[in-house]
Amino acid sequence: MSAKAKTDPLAEVASRYAVAITPAMDALIDPTNPDDPIAAQFRPDARELELAPDELSDPIGDDAHTPVKGVVHRYADRALLKLVHVCPVYCRFCFRREMVGPQGDGTLTGAELDAALAYIESQPLRAS
Ligand code: SF4
Repeated sequence: MSAKAKTDPLAEVASRYAVAITPAMDALIDPTNPDDPIAAQFRPDARELELAPDELSDPIGDDAHTPVKGVVHRYADRALLKLVHVCPVYCRFCFRREMVGPQGDGTLTGAELDAALAYIESQPLRAS
């Protein structure tokens, strides 16, 4: 048997994308229902290892709207400040899944946070 055949697909998913669920959410899962929607949202699935040729590593284009680390400035009147890259749960459909969790880029350092806040402060106030 090859090394690849011995690999547990769910362990491979977990090594690539963060996995977590709170005990309260886990308790809501119906173990008799193979289509339980809560399980589908939070429990890893081997199909996550399938990558289509046209899939993008940055599917929503955050990179193009990141003037400084930790800030996504997509719209003129608002910006997203990403202080930490952890969630209490990790949704299997998360479109920032490459960034959140232990595999992500971590939290901002003090200097990075200062730079992010300076960028936000430098932006003109705009009414929406
Ligand atoms: S960022 Fe949102 S969608 Fe992604 S794992 Fe966290 S809670 Fe789920």
